[in-house]
Amino acid sequence: MKSRGYAVHDKKSPLVPFSFERREPGASEVVVEIAYSGICHSDIHQARDEWGGSIYPMVPGHEIVGHVTAVGSNVKKFKVGDLAAVGVIVDSCRECENCKADEQQYCLKGAVETYNKRDYSGQVTYGGYANNIVVHEYYVHSVSPKLNLAAVAPLLCAGITTYSPLRHWKVGKNSKVGVVGLGGLGHMGLKFAHSFGAHVVQFTTSENKIEDAKKLGADEVVVTKDAAAVAKHTGSFDIILDCVSAPHDVNQYLNLLRLNGTLCLVGLPETPLSVAPFSVVANRRSLAGSGIGGMNQTQEMLDYCAEHNIVSDIELTSVDKLNEAYERVLKSDVKYRFVIDMATLPKS
Ligand code: NAP
Ligand code: ZN
Ligand code: ZN
Repeated sequence: MKSRGYAVHDKKSPLVPFSFERREPGASEVVVEIAYSGICHSDIHQARDEWGGSIYPMVPGHEIVGHVTAVGSNVKKFKVGDLAAVGVIVDSCRECENCKADEQQYCLKGAVETYNKRDYSGQVTYGGYANNIVVHEYYVHSVSPKLNLAAVAPLLCAGITTYSPLRHWKVGKNSKVGVVGLGGLGHMGLKFAHSFGAHVVQFTTSENKIEDAKKLGADEVVVTKDAAAVAKHTGSFDIILDCVSAPHDVNQYLNLLRLNGTLCLVGLPETPLSVAPFSVVANRRSLAGSGIGGMNQTQEMLDYCAEHNIVSDIELTSVDKLNEAYERVLKSDVKYRFVIDMATLPKS
């Protein structure tokens, strides 16, 4: 099947138009015509090989929404014309204990990510900065027509990555939650924690985001260069979700946790973080991490969003402005997620 998209050819080059082939859909597979694709900071980390092991050419994109245009003969969940969404993984073994526990992202055989990976047949996967994608129906999610489709796209990564740990650590109306970094992930973490009834404190390096953070659901906003304002929260949080994309001092946030509190990293800076033993020994604190979420939980999150009218705050962009968009993400200059309108892809 012919596909058109945007790819990077090495870690220093910009995204450029790229034609490639996708496999024809198998009996259990769905073809999704992509309407919108979110730009996750992980796309930039991988396009620029900041995590190592990048495979080029690379078509990034794992926040994908669109319409089903073809289904294999065994497909049960979808018919042609349905709205559909694809996130960060497109295959897993479906047999190991983690897959069976709906934690396919931690598949013991290794989950196949939507791009920059090899699938189980050895083919390189290409992501959502493209006009279409072929995926096994197990990894395709249903989308409610009630929500603005473009603003649903970021739920497939930024949404589930913040929803999942907040559910895992049972955030509710008696929780005090901190969110560090008001970017794509951070603003979704803030919306979900607020929606679950928690008292939410947003930490940000950007003074110009204070008012937005309040509108998005923050009970309090702390600008992190104000050490006294940070210190006021010492020993008080049940959980802090660290959504920062760049190296930073985690001890500052560990010290804000109460007895048995958890600092959960979802951000993936390229270099190791350093932890002072005293910051975790005190108050029996935990430093944890969390990766996206399972397939059933992703659908649960999308259904929760439809029920509670939650979507991402987005800036729609066109394919010719992709490289500019990357630069703006790096400057924290987007409110709060870029989404690519795939209708702007050149026809040939
Ligand atoms: P993003 O939109 O760029 O947001 C990152 C935010 O971090 C920025 O908006 C900024 O918030 C803050 N920040 C940036 N540089 C900083 C610095 N030097 N010091 C302190 N704060 C800084 O990125 P994103 O798409 O939300 O992704 C965030 C991270 O999560 C990335 O590393 C990404 O790869 C990772 N990620 C992980 C998973 C997972 O499964 N665990 C899934 C998706 C993404 P303020 O302006 O408010 O300070
Ligand atoms: Zn992502
Ligand atoms: Zn598995």
